[in-house]
Amino acid sequence: MFTDEYYMKMALQEAQTALEKDEVPIGCVIVSNNRVIAKSHNLTETLNDVTAHAEMQAITSAANYLGGKYLQNCTMYVTLEPCVMCCGALNWSQISKVVIGARDEQRGFINKHLTLHPKTEIVLDVLEAQCSQIVKDFFQNKR
Ligand SMILES: [Zn+2]
Repeated sequence: MFTDEYYMKMALQEAQTALEKDEVPIGCVIVSNNRVIAKSHNLTETLNDVTAHAEMQAITSAANYLGGKYLQNCTMYVTLEPCVMCCGALNWSQISKVVIGARDEQRGFINKHLTLHPKTEIVLDVLEAQCSQIVKDFFQNKR
């Protein structure tokens, strides 16, 4: 039941919530011991803040929940590959695992030859089709 797909679906629901606010539809959840401790979506328009990416908010709220800055024994599920800024933040957080839905060839950290913390396990392409489609549809409707 508590599969990567299960939690990625929750992240997709967050992306859907972002879409309803006319935000770029990217969603994120952080799970610790099979329990969701943070949920967030992109809010850069709503907050007028270029740093308000889903991942940044989820990292802050998970750390608040845990009462410590390091996200040990935590897994992040994010619908789109993190950007360079979020990659840096995830690196500082020492998160255990990051599960990524769709790749972001242009802005994602992987093509920039960056890595997460050496202890961080990375899983790619979980519900890749749905995660990339929601972003594609969003930008197509913008044109
Ligand atoms: Zn980012």
